[in-house]
Amino acid sequence: MEGRGHFSGDIVLSGARENNLKNVSLTIPKGTLTVFTGVSGSGKSSIVFDTIAVESQRQLNETFPAYVRNRLARHARPRAEVMENLSTAIVVDQKPLGGNSRSTVGTMTEIQPMLRVLFSRHGQPSAGPSNHYSFNDPHGMCETCHGLGRTVTVALERLLDETRTLNEGAITYPSFAPGTAQWQLYAESGLFDPDKPISSFTEQERELLLYGGGFKVDRRSRDSVYKNEYEGVLVRFTRRYLNRDADSLSQRDRKAVAEVTEEGICPECAGGRLNSAALESRIGAHNIADYCAMEVNDLIPVLEALHDPVAKPVAQAALAALRRIQAVGLGYLSLDRETSTVSGGEGQRLKTVRHLGSSLTDVTYIFDEPSVGLHPRDVERLNALLLALRDKGNTVLVVEHDRDVIAVADHVVDIGPGAGAHGGEVVYEGTVEGLRRSDTLTGRWLRQVPGLTRNHRTPKGAYVLREVNLHNLKNLTVEVPSGVLTAVTGVAGSGKSTLVTKALAAQQPHAICVDQSAIGISPRSTPATYVDIMDTIRKLFAAASGVEAGMFSFNSTGGCPTCRGRGVIQTDLAFLEPVTLTCETCEGRRYREQTLRHRLDGRNIVEVLELTVEEALEFFAEPGVLRKLRRLQEVGLGYLTLGQPLSTLSGGERQRLKLADRLHESGGLYLFDEPTTGLHMADVADLLTLLDRLVDSGNSVVVVEHDLDVVKRADWVIDLGPEAGHHGGRILFEGTPAALLSAPDSITADHLRKDLA
Ligand code: ADP
Ligand code: ADP
Ligand code: ZN
Ligand code: ZN
Repeated sequence: MEGRGHFSGDIVLSGARENNLKNVSLTIPKGTLTVFTGVSGSGKSSIVFDTIAVESQRQLNETFPAYVRNRLARHARPRAEVMENLSTAIVVDQKPLGGNSRSTVGTMTEIQPMLRVLFSRHGQPSAGPSNHYSFNDPHGMCETCHGLGRTVTVALERLLDETRTLNEGAITYPSFAPGTAQWQLYAESGLFDPDKPISSFTEQERELLLYGGGFKVDRRSRDSVYKNEYEGVLVRFTRRYLNRDADSLSQRDRKAVAEVTEEGICPECAGGRLNSAALESRIGAHNIADYCAMEVNDLIPVLEALHDPVAKPVAQAALAALRRIQAVGLGYLSLDRETSTVSGGEGQRLKTVRHLGSSLTDVTYIFDEPSVGLHPRDVERLNALLLALRDKGNTVLVVEHDRDVIAVADHVVDIGPGAGAHGGEVVYEGTVEGLRRSDTLTGRWLRQVPGLTRNHRTPKGAYVLREVNLHNLKNLTVEVPSGVLTAVTGVAGSGKSTLVTKALAAQQPHAICVDQSAIGISPRSTPATYVDIMDTIRKLFAAASGVEAGMFSFNSTGGCPTCRGRGVIQTDLAFLEPVTLTCETCEGRRYREQTLRHRLDGRNIVEVLELTVEEALEFFAEPGVLRKLRRLQEVGLGYLTLGQPLSTLSGGERQRLKLADRLHESGGLYLFDEPTTGLHMADVADLLTLLDRLVDSGNSVVVVEHDLDVVKRADWVIDLGPEAGHHGGRILFEGTPAALLSAPDSITADHLRKDLA
């Protein structure tokens, strides 16, 4: 391949055996864009993340001196015989950016510090050096809200139940409950009658209870009486629970605080987070908070218009970074947007922005489905960025299902042929043209693009949303048909999720949102516990062997005594990452030796839990067990083993698992946000079969989707646009996919026409 002459060799793997990989051998040319394809569960992540990325990190860690190494996370060597020529790997994934309320798009992309320098040099009047413009710095932050832009105030009517007495728990916050030390401060202060309802308090008593202070009262402990500063309930509550970083409160306290408080925009800084000196400093008409509140698309021309010779060099640096945000299709975000509110796909693209600015070369960048959340229009821009990273002298590995991304690959590795135990092999390696001609599942799906469905179902009614005002939706009125499959389309940031997962979900509180967020699972959850067949399995073992059922539970008497049924031993070393080692007694099998001597039709409990769902359907005969197992098979998870920890499932697999429970209900409204995430074209076809079944059994289904195969199968399409952010949020088209084909102003229609051409 041209242009990669300076690379010293190819990445070579052989004998790779992580998870389902069957002795995989593979050569990846360095300096290229290599795309990994294959059905969900075929083993793409096992190669790219669990083998290549882990080994790169491990080798990098080895190069550090021991005292540094001890502080880094420990990685076991991946199961592979040969792993050669790796370079430093950077994983750009969809894990939520998280971060507290002080982390914004501006801070994480480091554009905010650039703007601070700009204002400190060029703002009129200048507030000082650049930290005087930082809401995370005491010199810059608004003193009222401590730089958060929001204040939380106590909702008195919820903190205080005036119908009750102090003895009956008039102060509703749990740590002020009768009997607690904080309750004693009031009920036993001698200042109030603890048996009088608050509503009967005099004005002075009420004032004293809530706000009073500045004097001492007797406080009784077990055997002494001492003087204690008196502090009103509201003052004390505010000091202890509100005037501190919410992140320092326990999860339980945060929930309880939320129950008795209300959040609002800070009255002092009006949400600008900064003190008055910083907010009064302006460049032209704008202060720094105005810059941060604008959409990036709008901020760019403002900075371009600065011609002052002092301001220009700093503005140029900020502009370069802002243009990168625009280039990844995120120009509709503002710099003050908190990172905790951006979606997984948006977060992944923000991480990409950071790397695009870096001057590192010979790095291996690893992307997990970067097309998530992107309209076909935006996918073109994404491709340009991936190629730009490659052209800077890097190796780019991408796990992807999108036909348009696959099309620009220099090299493709197709994993299959199926999922789980049916996958784990390289079924094709080479160029995209070769893949299109190959007889693999991916090759076939690239050749035959599904057509438009024309016999649409007729809606039974509609969910009517009137004058929705949320994010970028302005007075939007729309009818979402019921009893059919509706696809909501539009470019990223046009308002699809806001419409479906916020507005519609809020109006229909019984709607079922099927997203990819973690299912409430414990580390011990498995497919078998999820569909609730473990009890039956234990009883079958008990009946077959004559010992009690608890013997077959690793949480109970059957568990390995050394690791107490965990299979691993965690050693906590002071200051260091905990080290996790497989338990030597049970070799990770979790059960004690005696348990494994008992067999059911020739298999012990560990062997039964190693069966895939498909194999288990052959193994068991109990109708109840079979019925529950079939649910997993129906949603395409037949390749999972009964005992695989659910924590190892991908987002797409989790989503289908949630669906397994729901497939037999009727009369409901189902909302999906990009259900094709993580799914191969063949998996999408299976998913569509499931969605059709949901509709045919009397449900309404609404999907936010950009995958055109889904749009083509929908009964109804609602297209939002024309662009993102405040340039979007309007309805461009409502109707059948066939009618969409001839819609004039819709980018979605353009791409649909191209796809069907
Ligand atoms: P893909 O990336 O192609 O969707 P994966 O590499 O994630 O596939 O998974 C391949 C197979 O290995 C699947 O059957 C998956 O359920 C299984 N698997 C993945 N991670 C683990 C793990 N930590 N433990 C056991 N099985 C796993
Ligand atoms: P889509 O689903 O079409 O990608 P969204 O509904 O996520 O679009 O976003 C529509 C607009 O609303 C965008 O300008 C986005 O930045 C804004 N937005 C979405 N979520 C939030 C939020 N939690 N806070 C502030 N703005 C938001
Ligand atoms: Zn403020
Ligand atoms: Zn053990």
